[in-house]
Amino acid sequence: MNHNSIDKLVIVGGGTAGWMSAALISQLFKGTLDIELVESDAIGTVGVGEATIPPIQIFNGLAGVNEQEFLRDTKATIKLGIEFQDWGAIGDRYLHGFGFVGRKIGAISFQHVYLKALSEGAAGPLSEYSLNNTAAAAGRFNRLAKIEGAPLPGITYAYHFDAGLYAAFLRKQSEDRGVKRREGRIEEVLLDPESGDVAGLKLEDGTELKGDFFIDCSGFNSMVFNKSLGVEYDDWSEWLLCNRALAVPSSSEPRSLRPYTQSIAHQAGWQWRIPLQHRTGNGHVYCDRFISEDEATQVLLDNLEGEPLKDPLSLRFTPGCRRKLWHRNCVALGLASGFIEPLESTSIHLIQIGITNLLKVFPTKGDNNARAREYNRRMRFEYEAIRDFIILHYHQTKRDDTPFWRHVRNMDIPRNLQEKMASFEESGHLYRIDDELFTEVGWLQVMLGQGLRPKQYNPLADTLSSDDVKEYLNNLKTILDATVAKLQPYPEFLKSISQQ
Ligand SMILES: Cc1cc2nc3c(=O)[nH]c(=O)nc-3n(C[C@H](O)[C@H](O)[C@H](O)COP(=O)(O)OP(=O)(O)OC[C@H]3O[C@@H](n4cnc5c(N)ncnc54)[C@H](O)[C@@H]3O)c2cc1C
Repeated sequence: MNHNSIDKLVIVGGGTAGWMSAALISQLFKGTLDIELVESDAIGTVGVGEATIPPIQIFNGLAGVNEQEFLRDTKATIKLGIEFQDWGAIGDRYLHGFGFVGRKIGAISFQHVYLKALSEGAAGPLSEYSLNNTAAAAGRFNRLAKIEGAPLPGITYAYHFDAGLYAAFLRKQSEDRGVKRREGRIEEVLLDPESGDVAGLKLEDGTELKGDFFIDCSGFNSMVFNKSLGVEYDDWSEWLLCNRALAVPSSSEPRSLRPYTQSIAHQAGWQWRIPLQHRTGNGHVYCDRFISEDEATQVLLDNLEGEPLKDPLSLRFTPGCRRKLWHRNCVALGLASGFIEPLESTSIHLIQIGITNLLKVFPTKGDNNARAREYNRRMRFEYEAIRDFIILHYHQTKRDDTPFWRHVRNMDIPRNLQEKMASFEESGHLYRIDDELFTEVGWLQVMLGQGLRPKQYNPLADTLSSDDVKEYLNNLKTILDATVAKLQPYPEFLKSISQQ
């Protein structure tokens, strides 16, 4: 028995971050830790954040979530990737699909084989060598662990879900496992006068809530990290210009039920379309230095596929993250910790890894300094790697039709990103820094999709004959096409989950 264990964990806020924390920590601690969550119905949640990436399945699995119940209760749909439209150039379109793209031949990475074939006019679009892309284009889906008769994995998928319903779903699970929920507005964060640590929260009705450790999940309010502890915020606006968003749900139309998220670039930002079972989530992320709110609203409303169900919700944000994400006896998660625009649906993932990293170095009542340093190092690395991947989408473009696009294509970019782009352009070589979130095939799809063409490929690829490379790609495409032809039409799959 660890006699130094904390007795009471307080979660400040009950949006996606708060309830994800409560659900996973309560599941893993099996009733041995007292957990209380405070949220305010009057303040509510940000109400957006509905597209995810495949690791959410790991989170749901650890949190004991049953997939059928989850799909039904959160009105979820399947996501095979993100389609980018008008990003590299107006009229361009590519899908950043999850899962594999091609397969290496011996020691030769797939992209070199592909680039060789491309230079010889013997390759189709990259998407033809991805199972997820092929399934998305055909509008078909089934759960598939591996491709029959071939040494290839199956479909890798994530979800779109209703953010409010997901929080409610996790709340029920958490409360069933003993998490206490307290409704009320927090007026003050109480600090210990000697240590400066957070001692408790004072609510509007005068109640004081004490705890040993706190997780700040209070959204853009950042009650503990910003308002109380004053942890500095690193502003990344020089690279990520967008600082505003408008969000509006629209009626669900059959043509909108695509098994992927859409991201459509506009004059000073981009628009998302996230199809759920019962509605489509839409939003316009933009930079207010280049377009007014009225114009941005018009762009959004002009590009809906269904009828708007509400007035657009307007949100302001500063891209970046807090200099420390564990400070004193508190960790910040979700919007309280920082925000990178949702172009690759990474915020919920950052919550997930924030929680799992916290679990790896779970605090005690004693000295937590080494734990906090490790947590901060790790989370900073994750944030910066995602930031660079997002910047790539803006910087690598041929668009010069508006001041916004001229600005982003000419701006300076972080050093790691410069090096990755230079490496790919010079030699077709791609690399992943440590175990950063996006893999080589993620970088490959976006770099090529955005129009970055390597000047050369690895000479090892020339040890393969042109005929062999052509045959290899043709075989791969034949296998993927045949596999996808056996999958269910996606609308039928959706019908089956909504009826379960
Ligand atoms: C425009 C936009 C689009 C996004 N799209 C995506 C996406 O597609 N995919 C993705 O992964 N992420 C996305 N995100 C991010 C995602 O929405 C958030 O990461 C996620 O919703 C977590 O929010 P949160 O729980 O941190 O904050 P919130 O949902 O805002 O929750 C904050 C909680 O704190 C409580 N609270 C605040 N102040 C007080 C107080 N004084 N007293 C008591 N309670 C208080 C509130 O009541 C609420 O319960 C998007 C974000 C934005 C802004």
